[in-house]
Amino acid sequence: MIRKINNWIVICRISQIIMVVPALFLAGNFTDADAQTRPDVRLILQITIDGLRADLINRYENGFGEGGFRLLMGKGTYFANAHYQHANTETIVGHTTLATGTFPSQHGMIGNVWFDREAGQLAYNIEDPDNPIIPTRENPSKGEQVDPAQKKSRTQGRSPTSILVPTLADGLAAYYAGRSKIFGISGKDRSAVAMAGHAGRAFWYSTNTGDFVTSTYYYDAYPDWVSQWNARRRAEGYAGKSWSLLNDSSTYLLADHDDRPYEVDLKGYGRVFPHPFGQADDPLFFTRIIVSPMGDLLALDFSKSLITHEKLGQDKIPDFLSISFSGVDAVNHFFGPSSLENEDTVVQLDRTLADLLAFIDKTVGLKHTLVVLSADHGMADMPEYMTELGYRAGRLDPDEIAAAANKVGKRFGVDEIVRFFYRPYLYLNDEKIAAAKLDRIKVEHAIADALTDFEGIALAVAAGRLSEQPINPLLEQVRNNHHIIRSGDIYIIQEPYWFLFDQGPVKVMHGSPWRYDTHVPIIFMGPGIQPQTVQRRVHPVDVAPTIAALLGMTPPGSAQGSPLKEVF
Ligand SMILES: [Zn+2]
Repeated sequence: MIRKINNWIVICRISQIIMVVPALFLAGNFTDADAQTRPDVRLILQITIDGLRADLINRYENGFGEGGFRLLMGKGTYFANAHYQHANTETIVGHTTLATGTFPSQHGMIGNVWFDREAGQLAYNIEDPDNPIIPTRENPSKGEQVDPAQKKSRTQGRSPTSILVPTLADGLAAYYAGRSKIFGISGKDRSAVAMAGHAGRAFWYSTNTGDFVTSTYYYDAYPDWVSQWNARRRAEGYAGKSWSLLNDSSTYLLADHDDRPYEVDLKGYGRVFPHPFGQADDPLFFTRIIVSPMGDLLALDFSKSLITHEKLGQDKIPDFLSISFSGVDAVNHFFGPSSLENEDTVVQLDRTLADLLAFIDKTVGLKHTLVVLSADHGMADMPEYMTELGYRAGRLDPDEIAAAANKVGKRFGVDEIVRFFYRPYLYLNDEKIAAAKLDRIKVEHAIADALTDFEGIALAVAAGRLSEQPINPLLEQVRNNHHIIRSGDIYIIQEPYWFLFDQGPVKVMHGSPWRYDTHVPIIFMGPGIQPQTVQRRVHPVDVAPTIAALLGMTPPGSAQGSPLKEVF
């Protein structure tokens, strides 16, 4: 019997060897053949639309022309059911997930802002005092900052240093031995920086000057073409002008969603069309440009200049250009995703994309370009709007949440047990807990339980619970978001359509783990890619590994996603 078993094992082992040899042989053949037949990609154009919830391109389809979204959805492989798997659906988190193919637990970008326990203060994601922004003008006036995350940064320095793992762009730099030209452009610093990775170069729009700027991490001085572009003062060309609807108002689905009492008027920008930008010396002038389709037009124009002057896509070494368009998100934050302003922004963006793709076709050729489109997160409709429709929703006051947690601390004999609360994380005071000799896990659980009872909070998760087998899918999203150093002790999840919000001009939010915030489009269009719509559930962590596989590269160092088979 034993002998039979041994023989069987021997036979199995031999058959394994026999199986393995042709497999290796085939694998070798596959690589050679693949290299010969791999499409001639000269440019990877990665487009990210900030805050483009996936359903918006379906809702506004009738307003689209032929060369933008319609071209991408019709000619490309369009994944209609893609969802982020992390809980804190914010801009830097989504962009870095697209760039690295992994979760915030690995790449470290757990939110636009987190509390730095060691420094005892808030950290803005890509802030780096050692790499200041290179000035574009002498004595520029300072614009009024309305981005709640940017407001938390103390210095003007920016770099990708706090992104903890390699990006696709870093992989391209290594694979092509430094010969691939790599750039990231955006209306927002964090979106440009994340996508350019550690090895590329980033430029972003400044709400102080309307110029596209960079930091000393990337350059010692501006390239001539950038100085020339900025000298044209394109943004100031909108001084005294207004944002008007592109088409006749009767053609819009949301024509009657213009004047709604809960939309934000940016000090004279108004709640209804046309929205006047004001004069260039108005502290909000350059911000209003980005809260309109015009910021995306500036990003387009700057990108064209970059493609021309840096000679992108002109040889067989693929170059990489990431453009992250910020207009949809900025408009959403003040007017909401169900506003006429949102519809017009997406419709105008469609024309901007058509213009970009036509330009790429002329300069590089779409037949040599891999176009990848996605978004960094979705967007929630406002609680006030959802309440009008009959849904129960509201806004949570961060001070009340911290007070409720402190009340539990008192039960344990500790005053002010909360060291800091910045959504979504509550950070507890370690010193006080240690001094009182408390069982930390017990305290965390007691606070989390009390907060889960709070109206508007769906679940408060103690970090200690993240090692448990998840019985609630939300726990998995919180776990994917949890970085051991940067994350707080308790993660607070609001109920659907409730907002954990800052007191400030911004009234509309994303950042929840709910589907309206996780649902984004993913489209791949390029040589050899079939036109199709895929309803299988996929994830943005798959994007970077798919691009890498198309080029025959190893995925970025810590990538967790897998190549999307429909693209091949
Ligand atoms: Zn965003």
